[in-house]
Amino acid sequence: MSVNEVREKLQKEISQSIRGLDSVIRASGLPIINEQKTNNPLWVDVREIDLRYQIPVKKVSKFFEGLKQGKVMATKCPKCGSIYFPPQDDCPKCKISNLDWVEMPEDGEIVAFTVVNVKPPSFSHYQDYVVGIAKMSNGVNVLAWVNSKEVRVGMKVKLRVTKREPEGYLTYEFIPA
Ligand SMILES: [Zn+2]
Repeated sequence: MSVNEVREKLQKEISQSIRGLDSVIRASGLPIINEQKTNNPLWVDVREIDLRYQIPVKKVSKFFEGLKQGKVMATKCPKCGSIYFPPQDDCPKCKISNLDWVEMPEDGEIVAFTVVNVKPPSFSHYQDYVVGIAKMSNGVNVLAWVNSKEVRVGMKVKLRVTKREPEGYLTYEFIPA
């Protein structure tokens, strides 16, 4: 399933449940439905909220340090050699933690992409953007925005650290090679 199809499916489900909620509110005067799995009553608020979240990044802090130095870092299992990107601290195959840090190669080739013009609410302030998956020269697939008007499968790209505006935070993207 493509990124677009997943989002369209989710948005369809959301608008269906909001329509269902309308009739519940008219009948009972309250936006309370029974949750499907547990049958517990659930208050459903239809107001949209701006989501700000904090996630613990201690275990992957080397990734952010890398970005500041213009490097895109991955983790590598010292036992089986598997490379993980986005970096993760555990190798599920070997069941060990504290993996080694390695820099991702910059050369890749686009294997799939999608142009996102129907954006999720938290991305609505961006222009249309292209999300692509590139197979990197170390064999690892990376998902990132592609900074190019023209993208095609097989296109050679470089993985680069960039500043995402208007927020101004460091991230990574593909640019045409
Ligand atoms: Zn391993």
